[in-house]
Amino acid sequence: MDVALVVIGNEVLSGETLDTNGKLIGTLLADAGFVVKTKITIPDIAGEIKNTLTQLLANYDIILMTGGLGPTNDDVTRNVLADYFNSELVFDPVLFDHIKELLKHRHPNLTIMNEQQAIIPKCASVLKNNFGTAPGLLVRTEGKILIAMPGVPYEVKGLMEEQVIPLLIKEFSRFKVINRNIRLVGLPESMIAGKIKEIEDSLPVHIKLAYLPHMGQVKLRLTAMGIDEKRILPELDALVSNISALLADYVYGYDDEELPATIGRMLKEGNSSLSIAESCTGGYISHLITSIPGSSEYFKGSIISYANEVKSKLLSIDKSILSTYGAVSEETAQAMSEGVRKLMNTDYSLAATGIAGPDGGTEFKPVGTLWLAASSSEKTITKRIVFYRGRLQNIQFFSTFGLDLLRRLIKGLE
Ligand code: ATP
Ligand code: MG
Repeated sequence: MDVALVVIGNEVLSGETLDTNGKLIGTLLADAGFVVKTKITIPDIAGEIKNTLTQLLANYDIILMTGGLGPTNDDVTRNVLADYFNSELVFDPVLFDHIKELLKHRHPNLTIMNEQQAIIPKCASVLKNNFGTAPGLLVRTEGKILIAMPGVPYEVKGLMEEQVIPLLIKEFSRFKVINRNIRLVGLPESMIAGKIKEIEDSLPVHIKLAYLPHMGQVKLRLTAMGIDEKRILPELDALVSNISALLADYVYGYDDEELPATIGRMLKEGNSSLSIAESCTGGYISHLITSIPGSSEYFKGSIISYANEVKSKLLSIDKSILSTYGAVSEETAQAMSEGVRKLMNTDYSLAATGIAGPDGGTEFKPVGTLWLAASSSEKTITKRIVFYRGRLQNIQFFSTFGLDLLRRLIKGLE
């Protein structure tokens, strides 16, 4: 079933705000078997909104809008809807009670603006927003559905998951949609495609395969659509295991489990602990590790040893290693990893030292040079990577490469 999406917001058009709502809405719809066929971004201007509505209502059965539903003067969507559908604006007491309840602790003194948020077009029904005061608005017109949501991303997420997706599935879909994800790290898309070509070419029509690359990883999403869940589930399971067999140890996990969670799971299974020494990644690897609930069970801590002085003092790295080989070298990475493992008395450790850029490169160590080391009680493994996509992206990619090296050490793959 096709959906048209309207993103409303001057700040999205000016580039000040990145349209993450479009990404979120598109992904959630795709997971539920709906397809965004067009997305239009327009300013908070009544005429533009009305023209867009006329154009889309002529061609689509489901129209979703986001942005401009708040209480301030620059938010015009609600009034435009009333105007467009020739509907009066009415006060909704149930909605007002909900707004009062939401604001009870934060702002016990309601403003006139909050009262205004309980005024909605008579032609619309309310989709309860449990995360903010602007409700979702649903208008039914000539067998079509129009839904307006606020612009705040976490409110959009809540409304989509709790209200919009269940409503669309109930009204428009008789199909079950089942997704399975295979998560890979360390193998580029093109090489994955080459390895699984035969399976991909012979997929049945009701199963689709998508490649979703992100920061050095690829998520392979298999989406099966059908009426008979009992039939498609085993079919999907067989595909997941056949594809995984071909991609072997590049597969780190499945479905919603991200790489830091996989590492956490492996450490917990082995009752093992982890410490980290970071230079160029500035704590980002530790941030990823500690983003996982329960990481305190296995993560002891990290040293962000940016300066040589800190590397030698805190991680006990021999000054001659630093002066002979330099801070970005295999020897230093190895000494950092072994140093932090000893200091924190952990089963495993990981270290990263590199040149995140844009400056600081030399002929032999260009910007984007990274040395990684991962240690256990038995050995230390190292890896050199040269990669440059800009400073911040590099920090993120470097962190993924580091986590992958650690995963390989824990799994005994290196
Ligand atoms: P509010 O009650 O906060 O005014 P609203 O429904 O009027 O909500 P907007 O004013 O359009 O929404 O946007 C609220 C916030 O959400 C702003 O910080 C805006 O930058 C952000 N936002 C709006 N649209 C998007 C979008 N498409 N993607 C990501 N963020 C967005
Ligand atoms: Mg607003």
